Amino acid sequence: MAENFLLHTCCAPCGIAVIDELRSEFDLSVLFFNPNIFPEEEYLKRKTEVVRVCTEWSVPMIDIDYAPEEWEACIKGLEQEPEQGKRCFTCIGMRLDRSAREAKERGFSVFGTTLTMGSRKSARVIFPIGEAAARRYGLDFYAEDWKKKGRETVARRMVKDRDIYRQNYCGCRYSVRER
Ligand code: SF4
Repeated sequence: MAENFLLHTCCAPCGIAVIDELRSEFDLSVLFFNPNIFPEEEYLKRKTEVVRVCTEWSVPMIDIDYAPEEWEACIKGLEQEPEQGKRCFTCIGMRLDRSAREAKERGFSVFGTTLTMGSRKSARVIFPIGEAAARRYGLDFYAEDWKKKGRETVARRMVKDRDIYRQNYCGCRYSVRER
């Protein structure tokens, strides 16, 4: 029987090719936990597109409530950090810790994230964060750099074919100024 896998998904453009690849290998579910996204309208837009992808392939999706105040509390003092600095490290850590916790509580054995698909997201930074979260909850972390093996091209085509919304900033209010 295929292992059950919980995939933290940041957005449809990063997630679509990953979901398509993993759904044939695992008993896959998607988790949408991204309280970093600002404003709420943008959060809902990105989530709607992830719902659309999951619906197309009948992949179950777990939707965690939008809690921007929790995220703001977590990155307090790091607001002025540049993108890819300490604020991002904390933001990714928060999202992956919660994803691993949800995976454990819901009976998954493996968890992963689509974050390494992002052109400004380094697998070297994300892997240790994911692995540490997996260790805390007794899970396996699926360490894959999704940018590799031509998947970015595949993802771009899939997004274009479906006319999926693609954002032009990472997500938080501070990344808007760096877009
Ligand atoms: S730029 Fe992106 S990864 Fe960094 S803190 Fe903002 S939302 Fe999180």
